[in-house]
Amino acid sequence: MRIISGWLEGSGVRQVPTKNFNARPQGEISLIVLHGISLPPGKFGGPFVDRLFVGDLDPKDDPYFEGIYKLELSTHLFINRQGVITQYVSFLDRAWHAGRSSYQGQIECNDFGIGIELEGTDTTEYTQEQYEALNKVIGLLRATYPDIKDRVASHSEVAPGRKTDPGEAFDYHKIGLRL
Ligand SMILES: [Zn+2]
Repeated sequence: MRIISGWLEGSGVRQVPTKNFNARPQGEISLIVLHGISLPPGKFGGPFVDRLFVGDLDPKDDPYFEGIYKLELSTHLFINRQGVITQYVSFLDRAWHAGRSSYQGQIECNDFGIGIELEGTDTTEYTQEQYEALNKVIGLLRATYPDIKDRVASHSEVAPGRKTDPGEAFDYHKIGLRL
């Protein structure tokens, strides 16, 4: 696996470009934000996470989608239960995943953050394949964008009271950083 011009390349990596992104205002890349997602919530597999992040979710497919299909959202990476990685937005660009947020006093984490979504729920153990893929990708991102250093945060940490993902099920001891 390697990163070429902001895109991850390698076996087991899918690239699904979306229009849901814009430029990073300062060009800074200095944080990784971890998320959990499944669509509909609690159901794994299926095309719906891709469709959400490319802006093509159909509200007729599930009642839950009615409330979210109009939102313009994206992330840089999504890691499914099998550890397959999908990239939607170049790391050099700003994806729209964190919302109103701050990390160590620095507001708007999307401006300088890389979003990584893990397929799951707050209370379902994430898979070994997901932790392996996540560790590989975090190592590569830290080597490519050295300002990240050890700055890896959960969505719940950068948007407390508003977000809970990736939830209590996420085991921080399984990633190679102390958080
Ligand atoms: Zn999130």
